[in-house]
Amino acid sequence: MKKIAIYPGSFDPITNGHIDLIQRAVKLFDTVIIGISQNSKKTAFLSIDDRIAVARKALKGIERAKILCFDTLLVDFANAQNAQVILRGLRAVSDFEYEFQLSGMNKHLNPDIETLFMTPAEQYANISSSLVREILMLGGNISAFVPASVEALLKQRL
Ligand code: ADP
Repeated sequence: MKKIAIYPGSFDPITNGHIDLIQRAVKLFDTVIIGISQNSKKTAFLSIDDRIAVARKALKGIERAKILCFDTLLVDFANAQNAQVILRGLRAVSDFEYEFQLSGMNKHLNPDIETLFMTPAEQYANISSSLVREILMLGGNISAFVPASVEALLKQRL
């Protein structure tokens, strides 16, 4: 049986932290599906098409990584993709409470799907998409946080 993990999020935009996590995850799974959520309660900066396009560029060469978008319940999406695992990143203690609640509710909705938490390399632990967007809007340098192709598109869309 193929080991398939879904790594869900808004990826608005994909950052070096996400990419580090995906590079680690492809060593553990046959396929890692980057599930870009369409109906996030957050207002998106990039359109879904832009988020897919930059993720695709950023993950080029990582063969086991696959990018899909979804607008259904996460556990239903995971089920439809035959994924056994939902992968989430933990950066700091502050992520824990929300992630713990989310994994508990997902487990209730589908007890057969496990949530697995991974941490990025230390140098990526402070990166978040929302801070990247904020720095960009205030004219700061985001080159340490996202790949050059992502930075270029963000600047175009600003
Ligand atoms: P969300 O909309 O749920 O915040 P994001 O697109 O921000 O989703 O991130 C998707 C997943 O990646 C989440 O599990 C989040 O905790 C994780 N993540 C975000 N940034 C990092 C990072 N720098 N290092 C590791 N994991 C991260």
